[in-house]
Amino acid sequence: MYFRPEILAMAGYVPGEQPQAGKFIKLNTNENPYPPPSGIKQAIDECLTRGLQRYPDPMANAFRTRAAEIFDLPSKDWIMAGNGSDDILTICTRALVGAGDLLRLPYPSYILYRSLAEIQGARWEEIDFHADWTLPETFAKPADGLKLVFLPNPNSPTGTMISRETILEIADALPCPLLVDEAYVDFASFSCIDLPKQNEKILVSRTLSKSFGLAGLRFGYVVGQPHMIEQLIKVKDSYNCDSLSIAAATAAIHDQAWLAENRRKVIATREKLAAGLAQLGFEVIPSEANFVWCTHPSKPAKPIYEALKNAKILIRYMNYPRFGDGLRISVGTDDQNDALLSLLASLVQA
Ligand code: PMP
Repeated sequence: MYFRPEILAMAGYVPGEQPQAGKFIKLNTNENPYPPPSGIKQAIDECLTRGLQRYPDPMANAFRTRAAEIFDLPSKDWIMAGNGSDDILTICTRALVGAGDLLRLPYPSYILYRSLAEIQGARWEEIDFHADWTLPETFAKPADGLKLVFLPNPNSPTGTMISRETILEIADALPCPLLVDEAYVDFASFSCIDLPKQNEKILVSRTLSKSFGLAGLRFGYVVGQPHMIEQLIKVKDSYNCDSLSIAAATAAIHDQAWLAENRRKVIATREKLAAGLAQLGFEVIPSEANFVWCTHPSKPAKPIYEALKNAKILIRYMNYPRFGDGLRISVGTDDQNDALLSLLASLVQA
């Protein structure tokens, strides 16, 4: 076989189902159920009028400049843009973790982190959350070859969070960078976007896929001290963001009023979803994200997922061997939520 042994040995990361035809209520990959800010249409139109024959700005400076203003960062040099935040995670892993090195992540969390380590020929180590969703001290302990620690905050699939104080303590104790993955942070009660100012080891990644309703566009970014960002830029593809997505992302992030209203709607529906599930007997972990994790004490998760799929409602069935299996349900519109809960009622009461 032609491929590196570590690639042949990989199971490969399998993303959630993305049906391209058929009419589904789609609550499986934590997208936003609402259309994105309207300003992006004009931004894309203007970009098309200028033409696409030239390469894009390799640094996405229009976006960086606007984001630096919004997040009160000293300059655009604190930000690097990426083709979705998966691209950011890839760039950070490639820049920091070499063959044989160690990458740490909490468990259960985002499965992609493991694949990124495997591609590098690196080792990975999962540290289990406590039952109350805090982390043990070992999460912050130095270890041989430890080069990068990932911490999704809010976490996926649980929607739980680690406090800012604890994140600062973890970063202080670690010998390597701590990447706080804030893919879902716009639905949460606090963020760590300013913490890189306090500790150079803290990097914070974000995406426009979730809170800006732009999963189809592919745009993410990372915040860190300029000397950290400078090294990451060496690793990214020259033109990792295209002209259309830079223009649209810049227009989208400008519309903070849209973001606030969207956040309000999604959080309100999340609370209705959690309450509706609890009423049906599900155990639901209180979530700060745009999804909830739930299990039912007497109804196995997989047949529920399958029955919903047959009825054209897609949610995510997940099985974490040391944690158990369950259902991760993205927050949809109120109508989608009602449709889901009424079908679930018939399934669990059958
Ligand atoms: N981080 C976490 C924790 C996620 O769940 C996801 C979505 N799968 C991402 C990052 C990546 O999202 P995107 O590449 O669309 O920005």
